[in-house]
Amino acid sequence: MKVRVGINGYGTIGKRVATAVNKQDDMEIVGVTKTRPSYEAELAVKLGFPLYVPESSVQAFKDAGIKTAGTIQDLYKNVDIIVDCTPGDVSEQYKAEYAAAGIKAIWQGGEDHSLTGISFNAIANYKESWGAQFSRVVSCNTTGLLRTLYPLDKKFKIKHAFVTLIRRSADPGDSKVGPINAIEPSVKIPTHHGPDVQSVMPWLDIQTMAVKVPTTLMHVHTVIVELGSDATTEDVLNLWRKNPRIKLVKSKEGVKSTAQIMELSRELGRSRSDMYEIVIWEDGVKVVGNTLYYYQAVHQESDVIPENIDCIRSMCKVEEDAARSMAKTNKAMGI
Ligand code: NAD
Repeated sequence: MKVRVGINGYGTIGKRVATAVNKQDDMEIVGVTKTRPSYEAELAVKLGFPLYVPESSVQAFKDAGIKTAGTIQDLYKNVDIIVDCTPGDVSEQYKAEYAAAGIKAIWQGGEDHSLTGISFNAIANYKESWGAQFSRVVSCNTTGLLRTLYPLDKKFKIKHAFVTLIRRSADPGDSKVGPINAIEPSVKIPTHHGPDVQSVMPWLDIQTMAVKVPTTLMHVHTVIVELGSDATTEDVLNLWRKNPRIKLVKSKEGVKSTAQIMELSRELGRSRSDMYEIVIWEDGVKVVGNTLYYYQAVHQESDVIPENIDCIRSMCKVEEDAARSMAKTNKAMGI
């Protein structure tokens, strides 16, 4: 029997999770939620996703001629798990409702680790969410850091990691957020990113700083890692080459910036031009003594999507082996 999945919050992350779930053969979308009538709500119905709405909005949807399947609370009756993709400041309110309905739930990186006590990354801690009622897929930036740092730590033991995050100011569809002509440092040091990585790798010595810049495409990280054992640049590249959710590109072959990475994902024919992999500039990787330097790019709208799929499998006890779940997800999503 397929796992029955509901999406609460059909926005940037929610619509991508919905598409990805329906590509798997062991889970299916039962419904998605929207709070107000909109073009996205209309499209969700056209795509065949039953639409569940707040009781207070039922009439507004009726007036707009958009067909609904019930209230958000009705959706709970038909699902095994909710993937909560509501904005960071509202999703906490739903925890009590999910608990009362006796269903499982996954939150996203806009929530704190304390909400669930378990944070998820497929390669680093798949088993920690095994059978759990609540879990949280860490943010796009944290997912990016875990994907590349976890294998490094496993193989070479990281003594210390220092990261500067160059963050996109808004998602491409968002015209309300800035800055549009400034660079804004996050002055609270360390930024929340380091502690967020430690919610999955508590033993890791990591410091983070961040600046926000006027771009919508991707984040870029500059990473400096002091390794605990000898490694060459080639050793590090070979380690990452084994991980399908890491993509190596070469600046000298024309992938010089996040603009060409997005062009590459368009050329690959990806759904919504998404780049699920963490992209590392191969010719920008260098080991000097015991210190590794590299640059990586994170497609904020999509790197967490395969993680949500694997998290569903772990929480719903569908596949015990992390590598098998990841391979299945990757195949279905064309990674
Ligand atoms: P979004 O604003 O694009 O989508 C949120 C959706 O939730 C919208 O459809 C909105 O209408 C709906 N919503 C708002 N209030 C609601 C409520 N009370 N009940 C039900 N639905 C409600 O946001 P997003 O970017 O998809 O972010 C969702 C979560 O994913 C956040 O925790 C965010 O931090 C995290 N996240 C976002 C990104 C990103 O770059 N966009 C990356 C990784 C993780």
